[in-house]
Amino acid sequence: MGQLFHEARKRLKQAAKYLELDPDVLEKLKYPKETLAASLLIRMDDGSRRSFKAWRCRYDDTRGPTKGGIRYHPSVCLDEVMALAFWMTFKCAVVNLPYGGAKGGVAVDASSLSKSELERLSRAYVKAFANFIGPDRDIPAPDMYTNAMIMGWMADEYSAIVGQPSPAVITGKPLQLGGSLGRDDATGRGGYYVLRHLEKDLGVTPEKARVIVQGFGNVGYHCARMLHADGYRIVGVSDSQTALYAPDGMDPLAVREHKKRTGSLRGAPAHGRMQETSNKALLEQECDILVPSAMENQIDAQNAPNIQARIVMEMANGPITPGGDQALNNKGVIVIPDILANAGGVTVSYFEWVQNKAGYYWTLPDVHARLQQIMEPEARRVWDIKLEKQIDMRTAAYVHALDRIAAAVTAHGGKAYFSS
Ligand code: NAD
Repeated sequence: MGQLFHEARKRLKQAAKYLELDPDVLEKLKYPKETLAASLLIRMDDGSRRSFKAWRCRYDDTRGPTKGGIRYHPSVCLDEVMALAFWMTFKCAVVNLPYGGAKGGVAVDASSLSKSELERLSRAYVKAFANFIGPDRDIPAPDMYTNAMIMGWMADEYSAIVGQPSPAVITGKPLQLGGSLGRDDATGRGGYYVLRHLEKDLGVTPEKARVIVQGFGNVGYHCARMLHADGYRIVGVSDSQTALYAPDGMDPLAVREHKKRTGSLRGAPAHGRMQETSNKALLEQECDILVPSAMENQIDAQNAPNIQARIVMEMANGPITPGGDQALNNKGVIVIPDILANAGGVTVSYFEWVQNKAGYYWTLPDVHARLQQIMEPEARRVWDIKLEKQIDMRTAAYVHALDRIAAAVTAHGGKAYFSS
């Protein structure tokens, strides 16, 4: 068993301590339900053929068809795909989507492929996994280095294989091909709803709250924009090239305009002094709320003791290592975990699937209202479990999800039922 999957499964054992589980539940969740590996052989533009390793893992489908993105990255491996599929099982359960968890990946540096090679690779993925995925079986979505256009190619390929348009096989599609309104800012918006809903519990006053957002991309930008509009002071932002700190705050809209115009965050406008710093140093600057929105493993046992924020909201997947988590907990920092904070993305993906199946499309206010109706009560429940059981929010989110999965597993009758 690989290290990543091993670490992911530790969460299960940790959460199980706080529930009285039928032994069937842990047995069922011990290993992925099914995993398929394939080699994608495609014709390159220079006439040669190349093969790429690819995987899809369906971790558990007790609560419904499995759901999870497809990642294109040179370091993707089976261990990572299994760990991420496990993670998706819990994320879908936290927000009560009628889904299990899955994940897919291709070991490829997508930036090294031409547009046509990328299309051929994406279509080859669907050919290889056509019997594994399906609108009522396993529904992929974008992840690192896959995007709406790739989802459109994949839906098209699947539709050709099954002989009819089948948009519900995949989410994150372009709007014109059955995508949902509101998917673009859904992840940032979900985190925004969670934070605003728990403000009083967290002791946050918007006008006084200073926020640093690491990763000014899709997720980070939208989250910063919405918080700023409600009076939060955005004092730091960064991308892979530049990190900026402005104690008197900045307007994320103006910063984004500047980046669009110049191609860089450097020299972006601020309300007072603007200081350029390193990405690593930005995490340790003075603020109340730190919002890592870039990538994995940014806060570890080494830098966690230097973090000044009182609250860390994980908008990226896995930005805190287990060691970093421990160190932040020891300091009394409240971590709003990724499986809750960034679940707005998969929630609106679910809305897309529902709309595709119904053939009826919602307005933007509908999408926003329904997202809020899901994020707020689930955030409240996680907070209540934290208080009831005196545990950190991450463990509380896993307890909440596991409780739901366990209820579904035992609805078929568990050991307690069959042995009595
Ligand atoms: P994105 O590519 O739009 O943005 C990522 C941003 O992070 C970019 O601005 C990039 O320059 C910056 N970045 C990269 N490396 C960095 C570094 N070392 N330090 C600081 N900034 C760095 O991606 P996104 O869609 O915003 O996703 C961000 C994170 O959120 C990822 O971890 C992703 O898995 C997670 N996530 C995204 C969604 C979604 O719907 N997009 C849903 C759930 C989770």
